[in-house]
Amino acid sequence: MNQFFDELPAQSDIEQEETCRLIKHLVSLPDEQCVICGKTIEEVGGQRIASQPRRGIWFSPTYKGGGNPAAPHKSIKLNEAPLYLVVCGEKEMWTDLAIERAVSSYRRGRRAWFCQVCGHRTCSTCGAPINLPMGSEILHTNGSITYCNIIPFNPGCINPACKNYKDFGNHDENR
Ligand SMILES: [Zn+2]
Ligand SMILES: [Zn+2]
Repeated sequence: MNQFFDELPAQSDIEQEETCRLIKHLVSLPDEQCVICGKTIEEVGGQRIASQPRRGIWFSPTYKGGGNPAAPHKSIKLNEAPLYLVVCGEKEMWTDLAIERAVSSYRRGRRAWFCQVCGHRTCSTCGAPINLPMGSEILHTNGSITYCNIIPFNPGCINPACKNYKDFGNHDENR
């Protein structure tokens, strides 16, 4: 269940794929800030998101562009290997600054992620993150990734002042 490597094109050179695989293992711990809004997870609350079906960041040995016009792919060449950082999501999500942050994260050996506000997993009442970022891969503090399924009930939000609040025990140690 690893969407990052499912995305790698089959025709690419084995060595290049191995490079990407290696880098992915080396770059696993999350960076400090959301790659999109620049806030820390403490500031935003909720979970760090590594990817969603239409939003994400990964490595590829080949250039990728186009895709879904509402959430196109964009490739940034990282070195001469060739190695690309590929981002996907709405055009307004991937500003030049956000792309700069993503590249900077990887150059420092940290994994780029986005928050639930930037990943649109928020409460419709108050705008705070909801307890479960459904349909997202969650990036934990230790670098592990788990998938959050879509559930058929309202998970509630993390804001104690909101009528939609539910205490899920989503405290720091669970991130
Ligand atoms: Zn954000
Ligand atoms: Zn709320």
